[in-house]
Amino acid sequence: MCPACNGTGADGGLRLACADAHEPALLGAVYREPRFLPDPSRDDLFRYHRWLPLREPLAGSGTTAVYRSDALARINHLGERLRVDAARVLREAGLSSRVTGLGSLFGIHPGGPDGAGCRRDFTCAGVLIDPRGVGSLSTALTDGDVALFLAALRRVAARCA
Ligand SMILES: [Zn+2]
Repeated sequence: MCPACNGTGADGGLRLACADAHEPALLGAVYREPRFLPDPSRDDLFRYHRWLPLREPLAGSGTTAVYRSDALARINHLGERLRVDAARVLREAGLSSRVTGLGSLFGIHPGGPDGAGCRRDFTCAGVLIDPRGVGSLSTALTDGDVALFLAALRRVAARCA
């Protein structure tokens, strides 16, 4: 369904735009089956075939993974602690840096004219971090790993200040 003209049309699986000429609009799906009913005869991704734009299932496709909410809650809490403590470390070092993120994800954004140099130093301090300063915490990490990360950040921040 097109929200710009309220037009509808059959989806052959390749439709990306409305057939009518008007301003750009994001097409929405109108599901034949409004209820979310997994197919119990399958244990792979295609158990959700009623909700997928599917022509035919692939043989040997993977199954879905279920993560226990306590493990996710733990790494989200670790992420929050890392962001709060990293912001404090940078602030105490006198850097105009920012720390962003959500859940187990974080971004360290060194300020100043040599922000990129700061990130290079960070890698040399024993922490492998994305060149843009973003990272994520996995369920294998602990409070001790976050403490090591913050100690490395403190050393780098002292050099960058
Ligand atoms: Zn339209």
